[in-house]
Amino acid sequence: MSEQLRSIRGIHDGLPAEVRRWRYIEEVAQGVFARYGFCEVRLPVLEPTALFVRSVGSNTDIVSKEMYRFEDQGGDDICLRPEGTAGSVRAYLQAGLTRSGAQRWFYIGPMFRRERPQKGRLRQFQQIGAEWFGVSGPAEDVEILAMAHAFLDELGIADLTLEINSLGCPACRPAYRDKLLAFLKQRSDDLCGTCHTRMDTNPLRVLDCKTASCQAQLNDAPEMIAHLCADCQSHFDTLISGLQALDIPHRINPRIVRGLDYYNRTAFEIITGKLGAQGTVLAGGRYDGLVEEQGGPPTPAIGFAAGLERLAMLLPEIADTQADVAVIALGDAVSAYALKIADQLRRGGCRVIHCGGGSAKRQFKLADRERARFVAVIGEDEMHAASLRLKDMQSGEQVDVSVQTAIAQCRSMTAS
Ligand code: ATP
Ligand code: MG
Repeated sequence: MSEQLRSIRGIHDGLPAEVRRWRYIEEVAQGVFARYGFCEVRLPVLEPTALFVRSVGSNTDIVSKEMYRFEDQGGDDICLRPEGTAGSVRAYLQAGLTRSGAQRWFYIGPMFRRERPQKGRLRQFQQIGAEWFGVSGPAEDVEILAMAHAFLDELGIADLTLEINSLGCPACRPAYRDKLLAFLKQRSDDLCGTCHTRMDTNPLRVLDCKTASCQAQLNDAPEMIAHLCADCQSHFDTLISGLQALDIPHRINPRIVRGLDYYNRTAFEIITGKLGAQGTVLAGGRYDGLVEEQGGPPTPAIGFAAGLERLAMLLPEIADTQADVAVIALGDAVSAYALKIADQLRRGGCRVIHCGGGSAKRQFKLADRERARFVAVIGEDEMHAASLRLKDMQSGEQVDVSVQTAIAQCRSMTAS
């Protein structure tokens, strides 16, 4: 096909084998999240650009260089959402839910970031995210982490590490920020260009630099968790004891800062060693100031998002479901009858492949390829007797039966 017509780099098609994995992950998420009282929301993909500039922060990578942003025909500045939290907060405020008690939401859907495409890093990808509005205590932090843990555990993904940190709050972060900045200035000759920019805009993000030589300079950098105020310290301690009480394996990592401006206190990532540099499968944290930042009343909140494609890469192949019955019509005279039988079998709940008539050999070959459990052979004799010949492809046994008997037979053999 012509180069011009190919999909955009970093934007992939979800073909059947891939979608089977996605559906499995989504079903596990829906099941686990429901047990924690989270309800699904479906929010817009297009949002006003200002929403992300204000919420995620104009100095973040996401907003400063990764957004698909454009002016539409009416002159509005809009973009394809790069993440789900800002839009969730917007929807929560817009619906006037701030006085309706805590809200537990989850979403599944595509996000867009113009990043450099590579394994595990796409320009259109999907996130499964959860947001919990109106809760401030460490108990809820433990609970949402337990939910994330249960989700990944039920997916059967092994060798994951939960890394957790505290980013402090507006009471303790400024003093720490100054201390960190003073440290970074001493080392500035040895830090990369990105680090220099971040020193001006958001010094905490320097800790997140992926360059090895920068990381070497940061070994003895001051850490936020050693500079927490009493409230943040007690929040963090209670959170850690909660994780211990629930036997959720975790590691405190003072370098976790997250790439978005809105986080405070609890920040976490769940990481696998199996995907190289793109090893974070789930990430999130507390964002107590964001609802207020968007013009609502002070409302603490916490959430996370997991990358569906990264999770899918960690799962084994999921086999296609096989057909229960393949319908084979012998001769043009029976084609209408065969279609009717296929229809009745489907109404009876069977998964049916109609082999399309024509040569018997071709039809049997097709039935074989679809790995059909039974074959329903229909010739003129069967049509006159209002029956069909049902062949069990495992035992080779054949019987002439009514369509009702065939349905009962298929369902009893394939019910599992
Ligand atoms: P990373 O450090 O990998 O860039 P991030 O901090 O940008 O991640 P978040 O914005 O917190 O990630 O998104 C949460 C999750 O969404 C990530 O942990 C990852 O699994 C997934 N994700 C983020 N960006 C991409 C992408 N470009 N392609 C595929 N998955 C992604
Ligand atoms: Mg990123």
